[in-house]
This record gives sequence, structure tokens and C-alpha cells, in this order.
Amino acid sequence: MNINSAFEDYLKDRKMFYTQVRKVILRAVEKSSPCFMMEDILAYAEKHGMNLAKSTVYRNLKLMCAVGIIELKYCDGKCIFQRKSLDVPTYYISCHGCSREQNIKDPDLQQFILRWCRARGYATDGLVVKIDVVGKCRNSHREEEK
Ligand SMILES: [Zn+2]
Repeated sequence: MNINSAFEDYLKDRKMFYTQVRKVILRAVEKSSPCFMMEDILAYAEKHGMNLAKSTVYRNLKLMCAVGIIELKYCDGKCIFQRKSLDVPTYYISCHGCSREQNIKDPDLQQFILRWCRARGYATDGLVVKIDVVGKCRNSHREEEK
């Protein structure tokens, strides 16, 4: 999953706008080191000609936490943000005949499930972590019929 589309989808679902300010903050998050502080975002924005209020940046970083792009951690009383990996997780389908396992890795599947949940009013934190499908593969199925 792509950070941009994850954030954009989240905002769209809540009828919020993907404003220039939000784009700059997201860009700053992408360009920052995996662990960063709000000041890093402010500095990045300033370097790109935007003077942002701390409250604006903080509010948007909290939004990104809700999307699952970053995580808020406290360290020595300071707010530290950590970028999360948005790699597509692997889902498994296993056969209870021969116990062979197959992987399903499909970003569309993940998006489909998230859309399905949101459409029914579930607030998701942006990632589908686990799906296990159990069944019988073609070979095990055939053996049974013999
Ligand atoms: Zn099997």
C-alpha cells in the first residue's frame, strides 16, 4: 500500500480534503528518518516555504497515526513519531489434507477488505493483519473421491 493513497482514502472516507498543507506534511513524513519529531516536520515545511502552526502539524500527525502510517511514542516526555511499514502482509491458505501452505499477497485484497469494513461503518486502523483460509487443495480433494 502506498502512503499517499492510504492517507487520501482515509480523508475521502471522512469527507476531509487532501489539502496542500496535508500533502506537505505527508511529504515531510516520507522524507524524514523512520523516527522523527514534530520539529522535523516543521523544519521541512519551512524549508519549502510553508510556515505551519504546531497545532496544525500535530493534528495531522495524529490523523496519520489513525491511518496507520505512523505511530506515536513517548520518549523522555517527548513525542516521537515512528513510520510504520505499509508492506502488504501475506495471507495464508492452508490445506488440511496435505497441510501444504500457500501465500496470498495481493494489495487489492487488503484494499477490498478495508473498503468493505468502512462501508459498513467499521473504523479500521488501516491494515488487515491476518487472514487464514483453511480448505483442501486440488490433490487432497481428488484423493478423497477415489
Ligand atoms: Zn492438500
